[in-house]
Amino acid sequence: MAKIFIVDDVEDNIKLLWYNLEDDGHEVMSASSGQECLDKVLAFNPDVILLDMMMPGMSGSETLAQLKKIETIENTPVIMVSANDGDDSVIETLDLGAHDFISKPFIYPVLEARVRSAVRLKQSQDELAAANQTLATIASTDSLTECFNRRHFFELCNVEFSKAKRHLRPLSVIMLDADKFKAINDNYGHAMGDEALKVIAEVCKACIRESDILARLGGEEFAICCPESTCDGATRIAERIRLAVEKRTISLNGKSTQFTLSLGVTEFTGAETQFDQLVNRADRLLYQAKEQGRNCVISGI
Ligand SMILES: [Mg+2]
Repeated sequence: MAKIFIVDDVEDNIKLLWYNLEDDGHEVMSASSGQECLDKVLAFNPDVILLDMMMPGMSGSETLAQLKKIETIENTPVIMVSANDGDDSVIETLDLGAHDFISKPFIYPVLEARVRSAVRLKQSQDELAAANQTLATIASTDSLTECFNRRHFFELCNVEFSKAKRHLRPLSVIMLDADKFKAINDNYGHAMGDEALKVIAEVCKACIRESDILARLGGEEFAICCPESTCDGATRIAERIRLAVEKRTISLNGKSTQFTLSLGVTEFTGAETQFDQLVNRADRLLYQAKEQGRNCVISGI
């Protein structure tokens, strides 16, 4: 079953198609003008549009041109329906992006076959779009923790850094690292180490805001970029994360352990020209936290 949108200024034409298409199991919606089509199309989100060429007011070609400007509709196949099958109108509408053209009077089974062909096209386009989305997610995500990976973190943060620099807005960076992580792996096995990494991700996600950007940069090291946050605000987030991890017990196969984090926090001062400079400074502060006995937050600029 597909969703078919009929656009025609003649009520009887709509009725005839509507009954036939519904009999074939499709979900149908109609509009009696180009404007009504544009008003209804987003809410209905059709798989195929059957668009009459000759309509008073906005013509079929004009309506088609407008439909092609709507981002979520531009790939929806449009079949033009017209009593005028002159070469010029066929060429014009195909050039405008119509998927197919059928002349009136049409034989219904032929129209239905063309609708099926358009539906197949739409379905393969949707599958391709979904597959591309999956690939994009895989390419940007760390599979163990489902945080962003290093590459995607820098892509997103460079954009945020440019905005902060242009508008002189606050932006802070938190770097964090699990303390004595090697000991967890050595004493309890790598699966327990993985548990610890998942707990870090889970705790960070619970402590940050929707607009903050969390990533696993590699190994047991994570970074958070906090747009519109001062160093004080980001330090409070860092402290919440530190406390939450300190309280957690991780368990696997009947064994349990606890671990802590060291964190470094810094803020954009207006003088930095690259986002990396903030990451490097937060990293130095993180190492100061390690030197000062671990399980603490050091912030500075
Ligand atoms: Mg008409």
